[in-house]
Amino acid sequence: MARTIERIVLPSPSPGTERHLVVHRFGRKGARPRVWLQAAIHADELPGPLVLHHLMPKLAEADRNGQIPGEIMVAPFANPVGLTQVVGSVLQGRYALDGSGNFNRGFLDLRDALEEAMAGKLGNDAAANVTAIRATIEALLAEHKADDESAILKLTLHRLAATADIALDLHCDDQAALHIYCGPRQAVAFADLAARLGAAALLTAGDSGDTPFDEALTRPWWRLMERYQDKPIPNDAMISCTVELRGRADIDDATAQRDADGIFDWLQARGAISGKAPPAVAPCPATPLDGVGPVRTPHAGLWVPCVEPGTRVTAGQIVGHLIDPMLPADAGRLALKAPVAGTMFARMRPDLAKAGDRVAKVASPQSIPGRRGKLLGDR
Ligand SMILES: [Zn+2]
Repeated sequence: MARTIERIVLPSPSPGTERHLVVHRFGRKGARPRVWLQAAIHADELPGPLVLHHLMPKLAEADRNGQIPGEIMVAPFANPVGLTQVVGSVLQGRYALDGSGNFNRGFLDLRDALEEAMAGKLGNDAAANVTAIRATIEALLAEHKADDESAILKLTLHRLAATADIALDLHCDDQAALHIYCGPRQAVAFADLAARLGAAALLTAGDSGDTPFDEALTRPWWRLMERYQDKPIPNDAMISCTVELRGRADIDDATAQRDADGIFDWLQARGAISGKAPPAVAPCPATPLDGVGPVRTPHAGLWVPCVEPGTRVTAGQIVGHLIDPMLPADAGRLALKAPVAGTMFARMRPDLAKAGDRVAKVASPQSIPGRRGKLLGDR
């Protein structure tokens, strides 16, 4: 079993209630490489916790065999606040009910503060720079205060992961093939993970327009690399991505075990677990996040998809229909088409759609002119 299990108590949001975060630690505390793995920051996305459930016995065995040179930390349920948000028998968990919004947006953006704090402090020794940058990030996070439970949860996760070498944030989409979001600088590192997980898409963006967890960890480093180009800052001092483990309902032991094996092998290939990892198969080329063509609904209706996630589509191919059953059948059926050629990697489940909903996403190899702003959307 895990070498230690830490229970981090969150401040009570109301009399008589208290929640806590659980972190399993493998390896040696403080040693490197340090890895942070979390799942279900969107508390209603449950494939990730099952993958970590299958991964942890493998980590425990590696730990017993002395194969973890650094430290691997695992938070299987990263959002105990969201987990309590069962409304009318349905687990919500994507948005904080205290009004602070999407649990995976609006993490602290340390770019400006870090750039300012590091002015004149970087030298020509890459390792010394990494140590100084990590210490500064820790200090900036230590200075920050938060009041409400959701903000404190985010800050706690940020502090736990911020000085890791590797951080994976496990999510899922509504109905989807496995896909990964990361920064362009880290496409090579995560192409290997994508290959091991059989991903249908590896989507890259330097700044998606919000501050999800992975970007809160990585973007401050990229800012320093851009600002201080004459100083050595290794590209892999902090790598982080968001893994979308297919769809919300894709929860089964066999799939989760395969995903856990893929993550374990990737960690081994990155040196976080000693020994030789098997070679990766099924390469997955990176494509730009601003090359994702959304299929949107022009009006409300019943969304009925007809293309399975992971399918290659041509531009203009019908991917589903938007139906208004109150109209005669010939007038009440609108075909919705792929805006670009590529892989339709995710879709909204068949359901009532509002006007402007993004009901399917197609990853194309080229940036789409005019695609900017908040690239992740909210669904
Ligand atoms: Zn999510």
